Amino acid sequence: MNTPNVQQMGPAASEEASAPSDFIRDIVAEDVEANKNGGRVVTRFPPEPNGYLHIGHAKSAHLNFGIAAQYGGTCNLRFDDTNPTREAVEYIESIQEDLRWLGFDWGDRALFSSDYFDQLYGYAVKLVEKGKAYVCDLSPEQIRQYRGTLTEPGRDSPYRDRSVEENLVLLAGMKAGEFDEGSRVLRAKIDMASGNINLRDPVLYRILKAPHPRTGDRWSIYPTYDFAHGQSDSIEGVTHSICTVEFEDHRPLYDWLLEQLEIHHPRQIEFARLNLSETLMSKRVLLGLVEQGQVSGWDDPRMPTLSGMRRRGYTREAIRAFCDAIGVAKRNNTVEMAMLEHFVREDQNKKALRVMGVLRPLKVVIENYPEGQVEELEAINNPEDASAGTRMIPFSRELYIEQEDFLEEPPPKYFRLAPGREVRLRYGFFLKCESVVKDETGEVVELRCTYDPETRGGHATDGRKVKGTIHWVSAAHSVPVEVRLYEHPLAPETDEGGKSSGLLNPNSLETLTESRVEPSLRDARPGTPYQFERLGYFCIDEADSSPGALVFNRTVSLRDSWRKAQRA
Ligand code: ATP
Ligand code: MG
Repeated sequence: MNTPNVQQMGPAASEEASAPSDFIRDIVAEDVEANKNGGRVVTRFPPEPNGYLHIGHAKSAHLNFGIAAQYGGTCNLRFDDTNPTREAVEYIESIQEDLRWLGFDWGDRALFSSDYFDQLYGYAVKLVEKGKAYVCDLSPEQIRQYRGTLTEPGRDSPYRDRSVEENLVLLAGMKAGEFDEGSRVLRAKIDMASGNINLRDPVLYRILKAPHPRTGDRWSIYPTYDFAHGQSDSIEGVTHSICTVEFEDHRPLYDWLLEQLEIHHPRQIEFARLNLSETLMSKRVLLGLVEQGQVSGWDDPRMPTLSGMRRRGYTREAIRAFCDAIGVAKRNNTVEMAMLEHFVREDQNKKALRVMGVLRPLKVVIENYPEGQVEELEAINNPEDASAGTRMIPFSRELYIEQEDFLEEPPPKYFRLAPGREVRLRYGFFLKCESVVKDETGEVVELRCTYDPETRGGHATDGRKVKGTIHWVSAAHSVPVEVRLYEHPLAPETDEGGKSSGLLNPNSLETLTESRVEPSLRDARPGTPYQFERLGYFCIDEADSSPGALVFNRTVSLRDSWRKAQRA
């Protein structure tokens, strides 16, 4: 058998729908083979409901739901809702909507860490009883000081040797709301000299007198993420706790807790987060953009959120094909935005109806075309899909063409329209520019042209050739629309630690209000992808469109820089 050369395989091969394989699947397969957990596979996707999901979350969800499906197991959706000050019902709902949109199914297993608060509290009591946890009265600042650094060991808290009895009374008091926020915490009693800072008596519970979206005022203490996460996985019988590499150093802590508690021990496996070039995916940064009104909301089409991408016209098929293609690795790396766009384009190419639209119109008057005459020209709806058929588009004396398809003084290799030059009108005739009309500022506002009636269908009977083909719409028949063009949202110099002001790329949105599209788009519906010939893929912006006032988002342009780079 020929082993294909990876270099030559290019994107087409990587898009083939074979079952993905990676080091995590290898581990799961081994465990199933060895009949670990009775051969069961249970995974979970554990978002904190403190923001909308982004494309990085799609990678994680795709992995967790995908592995469960592949091995006949289940994947829970579990909200890690342990920080009531940042969490909201809006996020709980949007997360489910986005995951459903991606096509994932968690049955009736939309679970919440907050549902385990009683059980988690019971675990805390058990640790105290075993002498493995204590109530500490150091302030948060003192706890930091006592913790030491990477090079220096920490120091024991003066409260570390409280008796079990005293700890139980104090913990109960914390739960009963008897103490102020910040005055006390419950800490694990592990090792203040550990080389792993996560093991230096980490905080398990803190006092927070904030109402919780689900448990209301019942609790005045909340478990930390580190305490809730592993134990919640255990309670759910998760077999493989898949998480991102930042948690590798927390694994010894999770192991320690599960061992002390003597409960089901999931196997934690870490993988690299998705980083995308020209994009930041921290929910904190994205929340900043939303709160400062720099974007119109979490679903602004510039956002790397799933709701933003959906509004922009990205489909689940494109996103999932991208997730398959990037695969799963242990080492962090950055994936080119162009690669995601490549998968969007591949998907749109198959589905999109080809139409003509003119973003920045320049008027053309065809002097030898009879006034009042209209004829219909046949156009192909999708060359990738013969079943999409054809449609008729009107042609008349006055057209609009793209401003950039005309240059008064064309440079070499410019094959579009110029004075005295001839081009082909897509699906139409040859068109020749005879003269230009300028306004008082010297700007070209109209072209006076002639057409050759013998060139219908785009070919001259005398064998004369033209090099350029341009798109157009009939002025009187075209539909005025708004078009929004996007660039990456974040200013290039922004980094995760960067200031939140000036975060937005000032060119990230360009709104065109003079655009015109062919009349077949008058009743265009949201959810249908279109290719405006030569300009890119577009979709209707559902939120801002109304009948008679359509707004189109450009999903992606046509130029595939990623595929080009793969082939080079
Ligand atoms: P952020 O840093 O964006 O706020 P997070 O990790 O705090 O993300 P969670 O809600 O905790 O957000 O994430 C839910 C799941 O998605 C976690 O298992 C997390 O590891 C995973 N995840 C988050 N961001 C990425 C990413 N960029 N790539 C892959 N997985 C991710
Ligand atoms: Mg997190």
